Amino acid sequence: MTTKIETKLGTLRYNIDKEAHIQVNFQLCKNCKTKSCIAGCPAQCFQLIDSEIHFQYEDCIECGTCKILCNKKAIQWNYPRGTFGVAFQKG
Ligand code: SF4
Ligand code: SF4
Repeated sequence: MTTKIETKLGTLRYNIDKEAHIQVNFQLCKNCKTKSCIAGCPAQCFQLIDSEIHFQYEDCIECGTCKILCNKKAIQWNYPRGTFGVAFQKG
């Protein structure tokens, strides 16, 4: 039996850092035709608002998909510092 992604995300615990662990070069986003980060991010961290990309790192589940999908290399990706970030639970 499969579990919906929304249900899975609801089981995560976050320890959010004040500093973003992912930086996006929004200048490069302006000329991006695919904007594949929006569809690719399972946590919906990327949104298009008034034709501009907005990014919120707080909901990131550290999957790395955005870095792989971004063909403009606009994403500087790191894991969160120390004990910050997402904690996955079994079940
Ligand atoms: S895919 Fe990369 S360049 Fe395109 S909108 Fe997303 S982050 Fe920006
Ligand atoms: S690492 Fe995954 S969850 Fe985090 S912003 Fe990128 S695609 Fe979204």
